[in-house]
Amino acid sequence: MPHDAASWACPHGQDARRGCVACYEESVSPDPALPFWEVAAWFTTERPIPIRTLQDVHHHGRRFALDQPSTPLVYLLTGHARARGSVEAIAGVIGFLLHNRHVVANFTVTETRATPQSSPRTSTTRQTDVWLDDRRGG
Ligand SMILES: [Zn+2]
Repeated sequence: MPHDAASWACPHGQDARRGCVACYEESVSPDPALPFWEVAAWFTTERPIPIRTLQDVHHHGRRFALDQPSTPLVYLLTGHARARGSVEAIAGVIGFLLHNRHVVANFTVTETRATPQSSPRTSTTRQTDVWLDDRRGG
């Protein structure tokens, strides 16, 4: 990942690590031709996020999950977005936090990861077979 501020700028001129509401809003109804990204962002907060709020995130946005790894005041936001590049994808996923200020008022992103997903699943039927086999076996 890039380390200088300029290379972190999203198309709206925001630092992707601080999130961008415009990128988030664009990711709500993206161009289906854009690449698909899995994004993970670790961030710290000044105050603990209540467990109930963490669980509520799943209701607010199905594309997002907020988890608390073992370290206190460190949280992991995961989500997926269609975007032209990794910086924009990260800006959009972190933008979810800006868009939901009731969840996290202040946060500092410490680490991000954006993984491009390869071509969409081409063998959906086959995957369903595997899934059914798993269920039968368990
Ligand atoms: Zn942006």
